[in-house]
Amino acid sequence: MLEAVGLSKRYGEHLALAGLDLKVEPGEVFCLLGANGAGKTTTLNLFLGFIEPTAGEARVGGLEVRANAAEVRRRVAYVPEQVMLYPRLTGRENLAYFSALAGQPNLPRETLGEWLTRAGLAPEAMDRPVGTYSKGMRQKVGIAIALAKGAQALLLDEPTSGLDPLASNELSDLLRALSGQGMTVMMATHDLFRAKESGTRVGIMKAGSLVETRPTRELGHAELEQLYLRHM
Ligand code: ATP
Repeated sequence: MLEAVGLSKRYGEHLALAGLDLKVEPGEVFCLLGANGAGKTTTLNLFLGFIEPTAGEARVGGLEVRANAAEVRRRVAYVPEQVMLYPRLTGRENLAYFSALAGQPNLPRETLGEWLTRAGLAPEAMDRPVGTYSKGMRQKVGIAIALAKGAQALLLDEPTSGLDPLASNELSDLLRALSGQGMTVMMATHDLFRAKESGTRVGIMKAGSLVETRPTRELGHAELEQLYLRHM
């Protein structure tokens, strides 16, 4: 679903990503780990088409990202660390607005509620202004927007940063559930515990290179930590 072939990004003299080769299959939850500046966000940005590679290709479902920008925007959804929503609109109204922007105007109220439910938002919260929401609740609306537009891949940057343990647990469960339904998930994170909990595979990045990938089922929490530290 997501494929990088010799993918590189240079900023002036600095090689932020150095020839990444990677395949993430449908239904995987792939967690990019690594120190600050390792190249995790750069990788996400290249798959999203936000930046242009210096060399190589990022592909989504076999399509090169920059040459197929409109189709890739439909297939891939980005959930940033801070999901930007309209604070005076309710969760349901935000979803209606962003769905309309994505080409689905006038979605029935019940349909909007179903997407929000699939993203884990409690029914009693759906008609409250988003300004009253916690970070985890805003994230759920962000995920509902992605689901409603029919995204096949979800890219998240630091999704558990600033979430309390309960909200982090809920997010882990949600991502695993979505991946079980065929969604491809790629996230950049510093949260090793959550990477083990929600990831099917981890990739450790160092100075612009992917130095190791491992299925999470092969690793205990302590082993993942040791693996991570070995590469720092
Ligand atoms: P963090 O965990 O801090 O988010 P990261 O692994 O996501 O780090 P990137 O944000 O991908 O790292 O950055 C990789 C390298 O590229 C860093 O050295 C960063 O300073 C550099 N970089 C990123 N964006 C730019 C830019 N727009 N201009 C110049 N250098 C950049």
